[in-house]
Amino acid sequence: MRAIALISGGLDSVLAAKLMQQQGVEVLLINFRIPFCKSYSRAEEAAKNLNVELTSVDISIDFLKTINNPRYGFGANMNPCIDCKILMLSKCKSLMHELDAQFVITGEVLGQRPMSQHRQALETIAIRGGLEGLVLRPLSAKLLPETLAEKQGWVKREELLAMNGRTRRPQMELAKKFDILEYPTPAGGCLLTDPEFTRRLKELMSHGELNIDNIELLKVGRHFRISDSTKLIVGRNERENESVAKLAKENDYLFLPEEVAGPTALARGSLNHGLINLSCRIICRYSDLNGSKESKVTYLKIPAKEQETLAISPLEEEKIVKLRV
Ligand code: SF4
Repeated sequence: MRAIALISGGLDSVLAAKLMQQQGVEVLLINFRIPFCKSYSRAEEAAKNLNVELTSVDISIDFLKTINNPRYGFGANMNPCIDCKILMLSKCKSLMHELDAQFVITGEVLGQRPMSQHRQALETIAIRGGLEGLVLRPLSAKLLPETLAEKQGWVKREELLAMNGRTRRPQMELAKKFDILEYPTPAGGCLLTDPEFTRRLKELMSHGELNIDNIELLKVGRHFRISDSTKLIVGRNERENESVAKLAKENDYLFLPEEVAGPTALARGSLNHGLINLSCRIICRYSDLNGSKESKVTYLKIPAKEQETLAISPLEEEKIVKLRV
């Protein structure tokens, strides 16, 4: 018997897949990628643990449509968990035919998350994902209605578990039994649960600028709204300076301090002479002026090879604060 196991990289999804392997089910591991989640490397580690190849499926475009107006709303921050899981299951539905899989396994635990893992939500997710009766949650299966896999005897219900609630102890004990000694903490995988990130994201959306390139930029640097249609992103350290430069696209402006240490910055949107000046002054503020009243900032518009340099003074703190996103 063959099943698709959704692998986030967290411990629960690994345990669920392991339990199924123990029952002789061939598990195919799928990790769905969205631009807010850095779970792929964790999922790869999990796949090694399960000794199965991992398939990654990018669902970013569909996910962005969901986040604009999720039918089931948001969790504590901007995490539309129910809609997100429905989307993943609906993708699984088409993959099942392609991969000749008979059911789907997830690591969800009843009552573990207030929004998406209560009984009604689990049912809704399966139904709206088009997989009613076909989603087996091995960690809590004994507390949930029988699925087709149990009814058909493909898996033994008596060997499934009855985990319930937010405690992690049963998972940790099971991990020990499976000799899984290292695993990530449950929180922190999805940026949509991070209040600081979602504040920036809301600001981006309020300006109609939601797209994958802009989301990547949201993950680095200090952000400044320098006009209704223009943002400036300023690196906070060497690693971010490199990232900012790498994320630059055609028509973006790149700014670099000249002769002094300071940040790399990127401006995206429409820029005029005044905004270029303002950007240079912000960069100057975060540069190491060594007691000097002004410094030079070089800028260029991608992909232009020619660059210009301005000698400029730093922007005053009170003005900086007003522009900060
Ligand atoms: S936490 Fe993020 S990735 Fe996980 S279900 Fe919710 S929205 Fe989707």
